[in-house]
Amino acid sequence: MEPTAEIVIIGAGVIGCSTAYHLAKAGITDVTVFEMDQVGAGTSSKSASMLSMQFGRDPLLARMAQYSYGRYMDFEAELGSPIDFRKTGWISVAAGEAAANLRRHAEGLQSLGIPTELLTPDEVKYRYPELNTGDIELGTFGPDDGPFDPHMIMWGYVKKAAGMGVTFRQGEKATGLRIEAGRVTGVETGSGFIGTSTVVNAAGPWAAEIGRWAGVEIPLTNRTRTIVMTGPLPDIPADRPFVEDETVEWYFRPETGGVLMGMGNVPAKSPEAALDSEMVNKIVDHAVHRVPVLEKASLLTAWSGVRPLTADGRPIFGRLPGLDGLLLNCGWGGMGIIQAPAAGQLMAELVRDGRTSTFDTDGLLFSRFVEPH
Ligand SMILES: Cc1cc2nc3c(=O)[nH]c(=O)nc-3n(C[C@H](O)[C@H](O)[C@H](O)COP(=O)(O)OP(=O)(O)OC[C@H]3O[C@@H](n4cnc5c(N)ncnc54)[C@H](O)[C@@H]3O)c2cc1C
Repeated sequence: MEPTAEIVIIGAGVIGCSTAYHLAKAGITDVTVFEMDQVGAGTSSKSASMLSMQFGRDPLLARMAQYSYGRYMDFEAELGSPIDFRKTGWISVAAGEAAANLRRHAEGLQSLGIPTELLTPDEVKYRYPELNTGDIELGTFGPDDGPFDPHMIMWGYVKKAAGMGVTFRQGEKATGLRIEAGRVTGVETGSGFIGTSTVVNAAGPWAAEIGRWAGVEIPLTNRTRTIVMTGPLPDIPADRPFVEDETVEWYFRPETGGVLMGMGNVPAKSPEAALDSEMVNKIVDHAVHRVPVLEKASLLTAWSGVRPLTADGRPIFGRLPGLDGLLLNCGWGGMGIIQAPAAGQLMAELVRDGRTSTFDTDGLLFSRFVEPH
């Protein structure tokens, strides 16, 4: 007899792992997760590992980040796994048009009750003496943000979900959907067919490929971002905040004795990112300008990852019109780790109740990209 599952999830990145856990928590444990590589091998292992409420540029996403932040603060109590969060804060700096945007953004966050201070360049310098603040006009500070460990998060979800009955099949690729009379009846995989009436597409930068099996073009705009890590650099204390230079979209934060820096918004040729060495040079050039002491740093390692973005910056969540049984939980762009608790909770509500209740997700539907007839 062919195997079956009530729900099949494609992808065990942070979104697939959170979805699996939240389904089990909602009482739906006949769930099989297919991961073509290993848990977290996709974009979720390439990130800057920041938990932030300063990130959301859109009120719905900012409120979802607030919700997810609260869930992360309870993560260890709820799941029994630590996430290694350190509340070091987030400073943004900007000049020119970017400064005007940053001010508007900060005021928006303040109106939602998200702690955000406006800083003069001198106040930025006081908080972060190693920064060159000569050419900045405005800074902001979010005290609650900081780095955490995406692997601990994913494995926390996996261990708890597996303990509740969810099956994780790593190293097994989903290769197609079986569709009969407008509804999903199963998934073809490298190791055979599995019958199911509900598939969750949590394939991150690969999500468009799964859509094509159903004849649907999921409008992801995958973009490559590069991270550079330096060797030990005692000049930058380990408790310094994350800093984003909004004018050029460059950021850095302390990491394992040195610093981690990131930059890049380059159209991705494929969901598998090769190292963008041109971007490594740009990152280093800007580093020396913004933080002159980084001139002394050695380059330890670098990698590029693919952010599965969308045209309006919102994820694509929920049902596909005209096809029963394929649910989307993708397009989480540059905030998938931050938003994973919300993404999983909302999908569990949709599956269990037929609608979401923690947030109204109508504005995240695939149909917003479809031209009205
Ligand atoms: C450089 C960089 C920095 C970032 N920094 C941050 C940050 O600080 N904070 C933050 O919140 N976010 C950050 N992000 C974004 C974040 O990493 C993503 O939003 C998040 O990881 C997306 O998770 P996902 O589960 O959707 O995708 P993924 O982690 O890519 O998971 C999808 C999984 O699906 C699997 N898969 C695909 N196709 C198939 C198939 N056919 N069969 C079986 N398995 C399949 C893949 O192997 C993969 O493991 C950053 C991203 C980058 C690139």
